[in-house]
Amino acid sequence: MDDSHYDIAQICENGHVVNSMARDYPNSNQNYCDKCGAPTFINCPSCGSSIRGYYHVPGVIGFSDYTAPSFCYKCGEPFPWTIAALKAAEELSDELDGLNDDERESLKKSLNELVRETPSTRVAETRFKRIMKKVGKDGYESMQSILTDIVSETVRKTIFGA
Ligand SMILES: [Zn+2]
Ligand SMILES: [Zn+2]
Repeated sequence: MDDSHYDIAQICENGHVVNSMARDYPNSNQNYCDKCGAPTFINCPSCGSSIRGYYHVPGVIGFSDYTAPSFCYKCGEPFPWTIAALKAAEELSDELDGLNDDERESLKKSLNELVRETPSTRVAETRFKRIMKKVGKDGYESMQSILTDIVSETVRKTIFGA
């Protein structure tokens, strides 16, 4: 019998994973995040489904990494932390030195495609890298820290090389 199952995750509004095993280890649950003070969620705010947490595999000891999902697997809506990070990345796009207005708009558009895995993601990666070459080191690093948690590992490696 296969007893593998997803636990439920408790994640704060800003994407900090408070407890990736909120069902099996509810003692570690918190109403508010101890890193940023924001309220925590165990359900998708759009459809009410439980947020998928740690994947339990019987007999396997040791903890694999858990990262907060960017979108709800049930309704497809972005989670609050995905929306917050996208908004921050858009605001940063307006602050970056060395870009003209077209480049800023183009950069903002590519952000939405980078967080989703679609055929346009590859195009967005190319555009993103081309535009980000023009910005200074500080801007580049700020953008990297905002996007790192919400893009897939593949996208992260392609656009930031790490
Ligand atoms: Zn937090
Ligand atoms: Zn949902």
